[in-house]
Amino acid sequence: MGVVEDLRRVVGPGFVRTDAALLDAYAQDAYTLAAIRPLAVVWPASADEVAGVVRVLAQHGVPLVARGGGTSLSGGATPVAGGVVVHLSRLNRILRVDPLAGVAEVEPGVVNTWVSRAAATVGLTYRPDPSSQQACTLGGNIAENAGGPHCLRYGVTLNHILMADVVWADGRQSRVGTLSGDAEGLDTLSLLVGSEGTLGIVTRAWVRLEPVAEASATVLAVFGTVDEASETVSDVIAGGIVPAALEMMDNLAVSAVERGQYRVGYPADLGAVLLVEVDGLSEQVEEDAARVQAIAARHGVAHLQRAASAAERTLWWANRKTAFGAMGLISRNYYVQDGVIPRSRLPEALRAIEQVGRQHTIRIANVFHAGDGNLHPLLLYDGRDAGEVERVQVAGHEVLDVCLTLGGTVSGEHGIGVEKRADLARQLTVKEMAFQRAVKDAFDPMALLNPGKIFL
Ligand SMILES: Cc1cc2nc3c(=O)[nH]c(=O)nc-3n(C[C@H](O)[C@H](O)[C@H](O)COP(=O)(O)OP(=O)(O)OC[C@H]3O[C@@H](n4cnc5c(N)ncnc54)[C@H](O)[C@@H]3O)c2cc1C
Repeated sequence: MGVVEDLRRVVGPGFVRTDAALLDAYAQDAYTLAAIRPLAVVWPASADEVAGVVRVLAQHGVPLVARGGGTSLSGGATPVAGGVVVHLSRLNRILRVDPLAGVAEVEPGVVNTWVSRAAATVGLTYRPDPSSQQACTLGGNIAENAGGPHCLRYGVTLNHILMADVVWADGRQSRVGTLSGDAEGLDTLSLLVGSEGTLGIVTRAWVRLEPVAEASATVLAVFGTVDEASETVSDVIAGGIVPAALEMMDNLAVSAVERGQYRVGYPADLGAVLLVEVDGLSEQVEEDAARVQAIAARHGVAHLQRAASAAERTLWWANRKTAFGAMGLISRNYYVQDGVIPRSRLPEALRAIEQVGRQHTIRIANVFHAGDGNLHPLLLYDGRDAGEVERVQVAGHEVLDVCLTLGGTVSGEHGIGVEKRADLARQLTVKEMAFQRAVKDAFDPMALLNPGKIFL
């Protein structure tokens, strides 16, 4: 019997599809520079069905890619040629929220904001807040070790996951991690987080919920130049303040978001805007907010404002978090990069990136997590122009070269996927790459789980 018929026996005939229009819809994720039509899409409804699907695929030697919200920006969820997409959207329940233990037990298809909302009902919060949080899932967040604007102080997904149930490449299932957060022996859970679906499929996760900070303050600082904003970032961090979030947008990025739904009313001629949020105990928050404002003033801030209400804060964040999508208002297509540089090199990095844009005649907007040096240059292009598509890709990889030259890395939070395999090989030594490859081979000797990702 064929692989499709065998899959139908596991999940039911309605949950395996092979029609061309649907396969095309699954051919790419949010990294739109690669597209591969899969053999089939399967929707299992339980961990046992995921295991059954993996066993069938292993028997037929057919590779698979797990899929959550499809918002990967590095092609993590792009199908493998001749492979099957295992979409986890039916495993979408929040099974338990335990306020005493500070833990939520969730299935992988649960959307990030659903967890935050469930936590809020018991006065707690789930910290990782990728800007895609309305669409991305916990399974994808775990696989990409997702971060977000508020991860500067509180850490990324890895710091908020305690335990996970996993289906391995041979279809066997087991639980990794512990509710107490202790690792026994080598820390398999940490290995799994950020492995981009190449080591196992997460079918359930236990994540940490935390108390909401007693107080918070959000400060918006508008500067005439990017350098002034960058120097403010460096001085805030050097001053020992660890904001909950420290985000920057440059003029081109602001010109896009200001055309969108969440208009703040920024001046058209600004160089850069900083959004700084401090939280903690009330007294400390007041002190930190005052210090942030004083530092901004020292660097010639043109406009300084502290959010006067929850509604104002929400608007500022909605403006920032919709920045990627807003690029559609000023460009037909965009390609977002995700490199990291040491914070102290921010002004140099931005100047070098501007130079890359000039050299390839590509407009580059910058929206990024300035506090941890995680840059997101948005390279604007027209996908109908083959020459421009080629140039934008070259420019994107040159942006990563800038990051490496300045002592940084080729990915902060979007993963390696199909996009950055060559860049990763440039960042790591041959020996480091060999270690990573050996880990992949140990977990997945038949190369069935999302092959062609991370490694060249
Ligand atoms: C507008 C926009 C803003 C973004 N902002 C941020 C941001 O602030 N921070 C950030 O970190 N990222 C951001 N991203 C990138 C993306 O949202 C994250 O990488 C997210 O974690 C992907 O989740 P997903 O559910 O969409 O996963 P998918 O795109 O479906 O898959 C991503 C990877 O996870 C694997 N995977 C999915 N589910 C599972 C599972 N159950 N088990 C094992 N592997 C699995 C897939 O195989 C793939 O390799 C943004 C993306 C967009 C489009």
